[in-house]
Amino acid sequence: MMARFECGILGIDLGTTNTVVSYYDEIGQRGECCMNQEGTTLLPSAVYFEDSSSYVVGTVAREGAMLHPDRTAMFFKRKMGSSKEAFMIEGKAFSPQQVAALVLKEAVENARTELGTEVTEAVITVPAYFGASARQATIEAGEMAGLRVRDILDEPVAALYHCDVLSDLIGKTVLIFDLGGGTLDLVAAEVRENEINEIVITGNMRLGGVDWDKAFADHIRWTRLQSCTLVPEEEQELLLAAEKAKKIFSRKEKTKLYVSTKEGRVAVEVTRSEFDRCTEHLNRKVRVAIIDLMMTLYRKGISEFDRIILVGGATRMPQIKRLLAEAFPYTHVAAGDQDEAVAKGAAVYAKLLDSSAGGHSSARYAAPKKRLNRICTRSYGLAAMMGEDGKRKVCNMIFRSAKLPIAIVRRFYTSCDNQKQVNLKIYENISDERYVDVHPEAFLGNCILELPENLPKGSDIEVMVTIRRDGVLTVEGREPESGKAVRAVIDLKAPPGQDEAHDPDGRY
Ligand code: AMP
Repeated sequence: MMARFECGILGIDLGTTNTVVSYYDEIGQRGECCMNQEGTTLLPSAVYFEDSSSYVVGTVAREGAMLHPDRTAMFFKRKMGSSKEAFMIEGKAFSPQQVAALVLKEAVENARTELGTEVTEAVITVPAYFGASARQATIEAGEMAGLRVRDILDEPVAALYHCDVLSDLIGKTVLIFDLGGGTLDLVAAEVRENEINEIVITGNMRLGGVDWDKAFADHIRWTRLQSCTLVPEEEQELLLAAEKAKKIFSRKEKTKLYVSTKEGRVAVEVTRSEFDRCTEHLNRKVRVAIIDLMMTLYRKGISEFDRIILVGGATRMPQIKRLLAEAFPYTHVAAGDQDEAVAKGAAVYAKLLDSSAGGHSSARYAAPKKRLNRICTRSYGLAAMMGEDGKRKVCNMIFRSAKLPIAIVRRFYTSCDNQKQVNLKIYENISDERYVDVHPEAFLGNCILELPENLPKGSDIEVMVTIRRDGVLTVEGREPESGKAVRAVIDLKAPPGQDEAHDPDGRY
């Protein structure tokens, strides 16, 4: 096993529901998943705290949620990067990244045992929609778990690396449709001989398998349990039962589930058609994301795909397959490896990183060599006063889906006579509009340009925003008369801790 793993960098899919660790197998020339101590490759991303200092991770923790929901931390991924959301366990607050670190630690420990070697480096995957602060929180979680995070890779892109190794996708335009436990990611990309080009990234940051579980659990309560109030333990049990039924419906039309109520345990018969009906509103959200994707693609002159690749456990639901068949009747939809493709692809990418950095691997085995050409997942703009009423707006300069690297120059004007300085404040957002409202939580960084004396109102200020291929954003300001200039660098993979860009519907 050790000889097959030479590059020393793990690929980790830190999932909403499960975490999977993979390594690049030099002989098979593909990513392979590590088994954990539970004998599977999927480690439930759940932590159960026996008290505020001792804990367990994995299946036991997930089941512990039924007994003590207040001691179990799950679905931390939806909270990553938010400074406001913490898990309170016995009066002690755990940040989402602290919980993520405990899961990562356990997952990597399992991998070390399986591989029989010390490993300290990893590529960790994140949903494509993750903004700068959630990416930074993921890096922090990795570091807290004792890892050097070599890169953060978008989950659908990781899956594409895996699929490309398995079957030749050269020359194809592909849609990766990734519906996991907590998120929907849609990535359109083009695969070439030596490169993968991202074209459009969209999706919904608050839509995943868990929403289908919740909707079905609510439906069962209203229709079978006389809307009775359940204690948190019963709620948790109902949620797990709803998830179990959801999975069964991927193969069968009906099933029976058992739930606890004040009157004792009751058996409930449920059918796939009622599951489909009570989750229709979630399918509508999927359709909205697809329409958003297609509209952006049309603007780029692309109207169809050669292949759709399904990633994420929730794509096994027949309603999702039906929806895709309706939206793309002439496209081949490929499923397979839904649970492991992301981790395996991260391992392929890790190997690629290692070989291009002249890393640990011997020259015995060929290395994959597809360069990733990224696009912006967000729009970036400068806060400025607009119009006569002087209302502050973000003036977008770089729009989501723009190819990286990119540099945009724009002229702004001073707002009063003898203005002393301008504060160049950069914000991220998800809009395609030129002007959007200022949301303080979407602030990324700034720099202050000192101005010469006695400049009249309306004097020119030139601003250039650039984003490098590796995601480093630079803002530069210049006053042309005096030549005074200022520059600030913001690493979009590791910015100052800010909250997630705001969107009430979870769209990105
Ligand atoms: P992932 O984040 O890719 O691990 O996906 C986890 C989500 O997939 C969870 O919401 C699971 O309940 C869901 N899932 C896994 N297997 C199935 C299945 N057979 N049918 C429907 N959903 C599934």
